[in-house]
Amino acid sequence: MRSPELSVVIPVYNERETLPELIERCLAACRTTGRSFELILVDDGSRDGSRELIGQAASRHNEVFGVILNRNYGQHAAVFAGLEQSKGSMVITLDADLQNPPEEIPRLVAEMAKGVDVVGTVRENRQDSFFRKSASALINHLVRKTTGVMMHDYGCMLRGYSRSVVNAMLQCRESSTFIPILANGFAASTAEIPVKHAPRETGKSKYSVFKLISLQFDLLTSMSTYPLRLLSFTGALVAASGIGFGIFLMVLRFLYGARWAAEGVFTLFAILFVFIGAQFIGLGLLGEYIGRIYNDVRGRPRYFIQDIYGKEKQGNDG
Ligand code: UDP
Ligand code: MG
Repeated sequence: MRSPELSVVIPVYNERETLPELIERCLAACRTTGRSFELILVDDGSRDGSRELIGQAASRHNEVFGVILNRNYGQHAAVFAGLEQSKGSMVITLDADLQNPPEEIPRLVAEMAKGVDVVGTVRENRQDSFFRKSASALINHLVRKTTGVMMHDYGCMLRGYSRSVVNAMLQCRESSTFIPILANGFAASTAEIPVKHAPRETGKSKYSVFKLISLQFDLLTSMSTYPLRLLSFTGALVAASGIGFGIFLMVLRFLYGARWAAEGVFTLFAILFVFIGAQFIGLGLLGEYIGRIYNDVRGRPRYFIQDIYGKEKQGNDG
């Protein structure tokens, strides 16, 4: 049975241009740690030949394994597939696009060697669009508030997890998850280190605005039912102010007579729209949770592993 000390898990979705450099730099970085390691590349249904490149790398390097998913399941599902196959006592995840420099791996390993369960990273001078950065800032703030775990940057996937946290995560059956938050729920100790961040040099971000929104929903609903509570709270607030306003209108009606009240019809419309809006937000959020419950009740697998490149190497060590 192979039992390396370190597993590096990388989700790959149409990253043909960066893959060769990524693999070289990762291997070099892992070798400098002086520990036994494995590099697990998860192909998330790429259509650009990334899969073939992974296959070549797996046959060329003893440390490289390829986990091939039959279609695109999304970044976090892909990472999960990689975690499931990983054997290392420390597991590091990073992106395939070289925005997270693989040269940071030894620093993460050094931090994990101190016995920390989860090592997060903070991107110094983050190289993303203003829109992405401000959306991230808002989400990070929300997550800190609701989970109570102080971490600065949840979006950065360059992270280290101990074997116990990985095992705990693998036991979670919910289908839409956000790995960094899930991990923090099981971590006894966490640490953060600053890392460099590079702009994406080739290819486009694999996240469209629509995919980003869906990711934020995953993030929000995966951490707690807090949004539901917030919802009833807002509902109560809106209702209370509605009643207050109703009384106010009635008083004016008695003071100024019926003619005034008729003109107030439009005000009432305005208020009505506020209510309708609040109701729709509420319904939408409820629907979001129910949809997730439906998904989890069906209990379909999060992904389907079609093939594992390098399986035959399982016997020898490393
Ligand atoms: N990714 C994936 N499946 C997807 C989308 C992305 O495996 O459906 C991978 C992608 O190959 C990359 C990582 O997830 O390794 C992050 O994607 P990207 O760089 O496009 O995200 P961004 O940096 O824009 O957040
Ligand atoms: Mg990226």
